[in-house]
Amino acid sequence: MLKSLHFYKSNMSKIFTNLIYATAFSLTIMATIYSFINDQIYVTIESAIFSLVIIYVFLTLDKNNKLTTENNSLKHLSTTDQLTGLYNRNKIEETFNYEKKQAIRYHTDLSLILMDLDHFKNINDNHGHNIGDVYLQEISRELKDIFRETDVIGRWGGEEFLILLPKTDLQTTQEIAERLRRDIEQKLFAGLEHHTASFGISVLNNNETLSSLVDRADKALYSVKENGRNGVKVA
Ligand code: GH3
Ligand code: MG
Ligand code: MG
Repeated sequence: MLKSLHFYKSNMSKIFTNLIYATAFSLTIMATIYSFINDQIYVTIESAIFSLVIIYVFLTLDKNNKLTTENNSLKHLSTTDQLTGLYNRNKIEETFNYEKKQAIRYHTDLSLILMDLDHFKNINDNHGHNIGDVYLQEISRELKDIFRETDVIGRWGGEEFLILLPKTDLQTTQEIAERLRRDIEQKLFAGLEHHTASFGISVLNNNETLSSLVDRADKALYSVKENGRNGVKVA
């Protein structure tokens, strides 16, 4: 909603700017023609120069706009997973470094949820890779719905997702993971039968690295898988 509002606003301001340039340009052209017809050579030259300046300013602004748009889309590409639109590993690592500093500085909790879809390979095998892709996309949308704006939702690997929850204690993280687990178990995604997911949770210990935090969550997740899947475990 916010994104579409921003898109609408930036498009409207582009249209407005273009209108101003078009009006100024038409007026100077008309002035040039008028002064030419009336044999006012200096006014003609002045108007012609003014038109050229307007064209130059317009083209420069347009070029800058295009460069900004290209920069933004490159930035988006380098931080986003293309299939799901979630953050990719690079972006998760970058965000973790920031959130870790905040957590240490303000003595707050930083929690992590690692989620792995259960028997996902069966979806590909039974319904095809494309449906598998749609399933991943719909699950990603669900994650965006469930987590808060301040949480960092990323695709960690094929059918593995990682969520960083700043300023969130262990109990709350467990409750959110449990809610998500039930959600996935109960809802139908991609028009398929019911599927489940397994979860591992870890909370940042002092100056721990991301790989250590993920490693602990991964071990908890592995133990859920070994115990029949469709569960949540704390590292
Ligand atoms: P487990 O419950 O033990 O996690 O079993 P699993 O089948 O989910 O795990 P496994 O590691 O055996 O298989 C993961 C599958 O995910 C295999 C791989 O082809 C598929 N996969 C990975 N990335 C994508 C993707 O982008 N799209 C689709 N459709 N499938 C993917
Ligand atoms: Mg996996
Ligand atoms: Mg899996």
